[in-house]
Amino acid sequence: MKVKCLIIGSGPAGYTAAIYAARANLQPVLIEGPQLGGQLTTTTEVENFPGYPDGVEPFTMMDDMRRQAERFGTTFVSGIVTKVEFATPVTGNPSPITHKVWVEDTDLYEADAVIIATGASAKYLGIESERTYRGRGVSACATCDGFFYRKKTVAVVGGGDTACEEANYLAGLCEKVYMIVRKPYLRASEIMQQRVLNNPKIEVLFEHNTLQLTGEGKVQGADLVFRKGEPDEEIRHIAIDGFFLAIGHHPNTELFKDYLHRDAEGYILVEGDSPRTNVPGVFAAGDCADPHYRQAIVAAGSGAKAAIEADKYIKSL
Ligand code: NDP
Repeated sequence: MKVKCLIIGSGPAGYTAAIYAARANLQPVLIEGPQLGGQLTTTTEVENFPGYPDGVEPFTMMDDMRRQAERFGTTFVSGIVTKVEFATPVTGNPSPITHKVWVEDTDLYEADAVIIATGASAKYLGIESERTYRGRGVSACATCDGFFYRKKTVAVVGGGDTACEEANYLAGLCEKVYMIVRKPYLRASEIMQQRVLNNPKIEVLFEHNTLQLTGEGKVQGADLVFRKGEPDEEIRHIAIDGFFLAIGHHPNTELFKDYLHRDAEGYILVEGDSPRTNVPGVFAAGDCADPHYRQAIVAAGSGAKAAIEADKYIKSL
């Protein structure tokens, strides 16, 4: 199938790109991917996206975006992109360059422009109870879910900048914040460490690892091991209402590694604050190219930028 604009990903970046591309008459085709609605759908309620003064259930918000994109003529394809072949310009070749994208190995789409909005996935510890309580006390986004834990006790796992930032943010809302750090020191930058260590509401538990979460239907506690692996290791229990993972994210960009420049963590590198990648006609929007903000509203804005750039690019062909 030949298309003008192909969008990969169905989070806020992908849907917003589709709304803009459809309104620019690019007749976009959007490949929805493995998690319809994207990362946001792993949270319980969205209260920080403008336009929803009473908050909104994430599936409802993503469905609103999808319907808006559909209204202007976006075609949705459910399936997973399994392979891409991005064209690079051949000097002196006047014919338009098309990029190839395969869905489920079989369906080939040839596109003038491709917008990658595949997002990122939070890393989890991999313990069983983390899955049991997902959305019932377990979260990977303090900015998204912290508000639900006002005046409560929570734990943040991790010792990097994100963990420190999240712990400080949560300390502004919660009664008490534990930081569970596996090493005897924090990896975060000095200034972030100082903020955590000087915050009376934060207690850092160095050399602790989480064994399991406990609770009746929701998180009510965590069993930790102090000095894991040492002969005198000790099991401790803390009472908590929320358990926040801050041990990093994986951008979902593996598929593009042969074509696109990425940073050491795998985030797609773009030109300045534009969505342009190193391949003409291929644009990146949202968390797959954003190691810093990771917010739905920021992703949506970058989706709009990608569609505007794709439109300009297609008109220039
Ligand atoms: P990092 O990779 O820097 O830190 C991850 C943390 O999680 C480390 O403390 C690591 O421990 C811990 N960790 C990883 N896996 C496990 C596990 N299985 N169990 C327990 N702990 C684990 O990720 P961040 O998301 O914090 O930061 C990513 C990048 O973004 C960094 O470059 C950071 O500087 C930057 N950033 C900057 C900010 C700012 O400047 N304001 C804010 C947020 C991020 P260990 O140390 O033992 O490996």
